[in-house]
Amino acid sequence: MSDKNLVVGAGFSGATIANLLANVLNEEVLVVDKRSHIGGNSYDYRDENGIMIHKYGSHIFHTKSEKVWNYIRQFTDFNTYMHKVIGLLDGIETHIPFNFNTLYDVFPKSFAKKLEDKLLDVFQINTKVPILEFQAQDDDDLKFLANYVYQKIFLYYTTKQWGVSPKEIDDAVTARVPVYLSKDNRYFQDRFQGIPLEGYTKVIENMLASDKIEVRLNTSYDSIKDQKFKRIFYTGSIDKFFGYKYGQLPYRSVRFKLETHDKEYYQSNSVINYPCNYDFTRIHEFKYYLDDKSDKTVIAKEYSEEYVRGKNGRYYPIMSDANKALYEKYYEEAKNLENVYFLGRLGDYKYYDMDKAILRALELFEEIKG
Ligand code: FAD
Ligand code: UDP
Repeated sequence: MSDKNLVVGAGFSGATIANLLANVLNEEVLVVDKRSHIGGNSYDYRDENGIMIHKYGSHIFHTKSEKVWNYIRQFTDFNTYMHKVIGLLDGIETHIPFNFNTLYDVFPKSFAKKLEDKLLDVFQINTKVPILEFQAQDDDDLKFLANYVYQKIFLYYTTKQWGVSPKEIDDAVTARVPVYLSKDNRYFQDRFQGIPLEGYTKVIENMLASDKIEVRLNTSYDSIKDQKFKRIFYTGSIDKFFGYKYGQLPYRSVRFKLETHDKEYYQSNSVINYPCNYDFTRIHEFKYYLDDKSDKTVIAKEYSEEYVRGKNGRYYPIMSDANKALYEKYYEEAKNLENVYFLGRLGDYKYYDMDKAILRALELFEEIKG
């Protein structure tokens, strides 16, 4: 039996478990990734203009977990960036999630005031209400408002993003961006937020920097699966590991169209959502994150599409009862394996943000360390 661990995938999940095995247990780890870079979907790089590009879309670190925050800060410092999202509603640039400031941006003042008063009769200030709950209103004005928010923010964006309406996906998906009865324009209210000062790739490089860890890029699990390892940690898609024996787990994929513009800034904010217009869902402008200085700017238009094996990448697990049931079959099968562990957005088939992927790896490590 080999003394070496295998970690499949060099994203945050794989890097966390590899780091702990090497530094806490002092064990040898081989990390493989089929891509040509570390970092998974959090990978970033500086382009020829010195702008840090988030190759797989804007990544903002945010967490409520002190445990995750303390862990990640061993590898990086963060700036104090707090994410805000602007959306174009009826041609007006305003705040998403919908909040009291949005209300006053899109409606005449007297009507906005009437709605604000009615909302405060029904809800406590600073309450977050998922749109599908917000629609259950008795008052006609609030019904009108709920329908406006549903139509203008959620219906078309969600249809572009998921290929189905908000009512046909798991409620938790749209609940990530609840109506917020507040004047707080931030996208996240988490205590800890920011962008790593030298980017995400550097964070993961620091996590993997150990003479106990070997990283092999452009290497798929299939190419080494006949070798023997002490334990295997698999952050790829669990259905692939089992040869798709129960069928393929569905995912959404995304495509980014990068453009360089000969101007200092292209848009008024790092992310602008287009819930009602165009085929793309949002436009990212990357120089905002680390306040990069250049007389050029780089943007990415984000297009969502169906995941097709062999054609594009797996980005979002699609949360539905049928898909969860299919995942459970693989999960049950995985329980029979000895010393093989699944984790990560693809291994657990869960819509994890980075902090949740790290937390899952920290907790798994606690379970196995003995
Ligand atoms: P991944 O980063 O996907 O890494 C898995 C790695 O495994 C990949 O590098 C892959 O190449 C490799 N791999 C898979 N199969 C194999 C195989 N068979 N052999 C070898 N290698 C393999 N989170 C936030 O917290 N904030 C955000 O703002 C945010 N924005 C996001 C925006 C988009 C568009 C997307 C798609 C995600 C976003 N996320 C965000 C989520 C974040 O990307 C994930 O939480 C994080 O990447 C999960 O890390 P992971 O290691 O589990 O998976
Ligand atoms: N959403 C929407 N309109 C928006 C923003 C979000 O309909 O302007 C819905 C959409 O279904 C999206 C989900 O809320 O997939 C979660 O949004 P989030 O910004 O958290 O998605 P992510 O950044 O993970 O792609």
